[in-house]
Amino acid sequence: MSTLDVLVPDIGDFTDVPVAEILVAVGDAVAAEDPLVVLESDKSSMEIPAPEAGTVKDIKVAVGDAVSEGSALVVLEVESAVAADPSEGTVPPEVEVESPAAPAKGTVPSDADLHAPVLVLGSGPGGYAAAFRAADLGLEVVMVERHAILGGVCLNVGCIPSKALLHVAKVIAEAETAGAHGVSFDKPEIDLDALREWKGSVVSKLTGGLQQMAKGRKVQVVQGEARFTGPNLLSVLTPEGETTTISFDHVIVAAGSRSVRLPGVPHDDPRVMDSTGALELADVPERLLVVGGGIIGLEMATVYDALGSRVTVVELADGLIPGADRDLVKPLAKRIGGRYAAIHLGTRVESIEAAEDGLHATFSGDVEDATFDRVLVAVGRIPNGASLGLEAAGVHVDERGFVPVDDRRRTNIQHIYAIGDVAGGPMLAHKATADGHVAAEVIAGHDAVFEPRGIPSVAYTDPEVAWVGLTETEAAERDVAFEKSVFPWSASGRALAIDGADGVTKLLRDPETGRVLGAGIVGPSAGDLIAEPGFALEMGADVADLGLTIHAHPTLSETIMLAAEIADGTITDLPNKVAMRAAKKAKA
Ligand SMILES: Cc1cc2nc3c(=O)[nH]c(=O)nc-3n(C[C@H](O)[C@H](O)[C@H](O)COP(=O)(O)OP(=O)(O)OC[C@H]3O[C@@H](n4cnc5c(N)ncnc54)[C@H](O)[C@@H]3O)c2cc1C
Repeated sequence: MSTLDVLVPDIGDFTDVPVAEILVAVGDAVAAEDPLVVLESDKSSMEIPAPEAGTVKDIKVAVGDAVSEGSALVVLEVESAVAADPSEGTVPPEVEVESPAAPAKGTVPSDADLHAPVLVLGSGPGGYAAAFRAADLGLEVVMVERHAILGGVCLNVGCIPSKALLHVAKVIAEAETAGAHGVSFDKPEIDLDALREWKGSVVSKLTGGLQQMAKGRKVQVVQGEARFTGPNLLSVLTPEGETTTISFDHVIVAAGSRSVRLPGVPHDDPRVMDSTGALELADVPERLLVVGGGIIGLEMATVYDALGSRVTVVELADGLIPGADRDLVKPLAKRIGGRYAAIHLGTRVESIEAAEDGLHATFSGDVEDATFDRVLVAVGRIPNGASLGLEAAGVHVDERGFVPVDDRRRTNIQHIYAIGDVAGGPMLAHKATADGHVAAEVIAGHDAVFEPRGIPSVAYTDPEVAWVGLTETEAAERDVAFEKSVFPWSASGRALAIDGADGVTKLLRDPETGRVLGAGIVGPSAGDLIAEPGFALEMGADVADLGLTIHAHPTLSETIMLAAEIADGTITDLPNKVAMRAAKKAKA
């Protein structure tokens, strides 16, 4: 037994943050990740979790104390202490790539139940992509997953079921809009059981496919909860309650993330949902409160609004989808502002109390208290890095539970890799998959690195919002010079024909080289359209290349070409003031 000081982690620019609540007492036994203390600044509240399981030996603070990064909060008695150093950065020092033929660092135990040359922990879009790529490169792979069904969050309770429901929401919205063009439909009748079943069938087609592909590639799948017990050893607790030990030469940690819980919210009440609960579609609540105006919250709001709920959104930041440029969010804010019961920005949920007649919510500022039939908490996701016993393998896990990696996805321990949500970066499926390919290729001895010029982000809302590479907001923060050209979709025939005239396509280019730096699109299919500027960015193309590429007419993809023509001064689909001025000058 040893003691572990739980310190205040990196909390950004905040100092002297008051302790709002102490959730444990001396002598309490806590599990890894159990919240210990709640800090509350005027902008946000934050739970400080136990880095590992133990017993509370001492509490170093009282409610109301002001603390800053590094302040001691709680002393835990633990079996093995993890160094909690809030000053450590997110990227560990570069380490040498091992040849796959060379013995891995650490001693491979010979008495394990199973040996894996490559072990993958987790079967989400990071884990299965890594496992399959490694198998395709001729490596022997074991994949451990705690659930019986492969696919992780994305396939089971994330990207895919949400997009299936968003498709239905889109059909309902388009039928509504058709009324204004002389084609009216009756109010839709929603058969929730059938809708749920259809959503499930989409998911199971994909997850079943994964199972078959794993079999086809001879990737051995072991079901159970995995925990590191040494640098080359995992123990897996199977659903039958048995423990299987697996030794490995290389391991790829792809354990993903989970929803953040808010202090003061009765999460045990079945009417309080996270995104997984919301996707279950238990009913269509008359009054739904969505806490969090980010991508996941707004996508679920889009679904429930289309199905008939009166939706209220509350967001702590002063705008929706905080990562996106404001001009891209505007058309979305305008549409939902006119449909939803309310959108409260710059507002915090102070409390939610469960009562028989509903969930009573109070808010900061002068936002009136209100009662809801259901509450969806969608305030972000936290990585699963702190609950894997990685300290037993000597792997550094940061204070938020991320496992820092270098550009080859290696942790500080040579033969241990981390990918996807657990490794940080944008918590997106396509980033996890790209990570997975790199890790597998590095293990196979390839000279692979993760160095994308841009990773697209998409909100599949109505309208969709998408961006890639540099945003104007980032450019301002990092003082990056850029030139911008914006094509309004009100001048696109195709956009007008599909009720998308509010859309916008924006390109950012380097003022000196003309190269694409970033792009943003809002409008129908923005998520698909963003691939083209993303490709241009990755290829180091000039914005002029996008303008000189002939695009089919009439398509929404033309708006990318037209935005490029604005930058080049060759646009003929809009008044061209630059050209007109030049012509006038030439005549004079
Ligand atoms: C509602 C919702 C919608 C989303 N929509 C999109 C979208 O449209 N596009 C997009 O790009 N991203 C989306 N995301 C994010 C996306 O789902 C994640 O970025 C992605 O799943 C991360 O993949 P991963 O492989 O890192 O981890 P995960 O998919 O989280 O998979 C990790 C796996 O590891 C397993 N695991 C964890 N710990 C253990 C353990 N100890 N033992 C055994 N197994 C373990 C888990 O059971 C899980 O199956 C969405 C997320 C949510 C919640």
